[in-house]
Amino acid sequence: MSDVEDDERVAGADAGRDGIPCTACESALESPGRETISFLLLDQLTIPVVGCVDHKRQFSDVCGLTTGDAATLLDHQPAGGVRCPGCRHSTHRVQHPGVPVADGAVAILGCSRHVDDVVERFRAGLRTQQRLTTSLPSGPG
Ligand SMILES: [Zn+2]
Ligand SMILES: [Zn+2]
Repeated sequence: MSDVEDDERVAGADAGRDGIPCTACESALESPGRETISFLLLDQLTIPVVGCVDHKRQFSDVCGLTTGDAATLLDHQPAGGVRCPGCRHSTHRVQHPGVPVADGAVAILGCSRHVDDVVERFRAGLRTQQRLTTSLPSGPG
């Protein structure tokens, strides 16, 4: 018999509206350029994302938790390019406020439909990640 207290950690959703703790992300979001735009390959989607290298990778990893195939992050535009015309046109400016990723933030440069899609996956991935990190397996099963 063991009484294990579940120490539930409440993930603070107190990300400030302005001011991203990660300055690299902040400057990337301010003026997205070739060096800060990466391409996230998720299922059949190719979505340009902006942020610092670390947080883009983290974002991609979390998105990959929800899919059968891991999400891939490319530093350059893939051979096929961005398929969705709406997404292709949005690569020039950041319209989205950015998605908080740990102490940084990434912006998804896509049409509203695909941005929603990716954000949804990211949130689902976060939930999966929390479950994985908070619930430890109790003995070999
Ligand atoms: Zn960052
Ligand atoms: Zn699109």
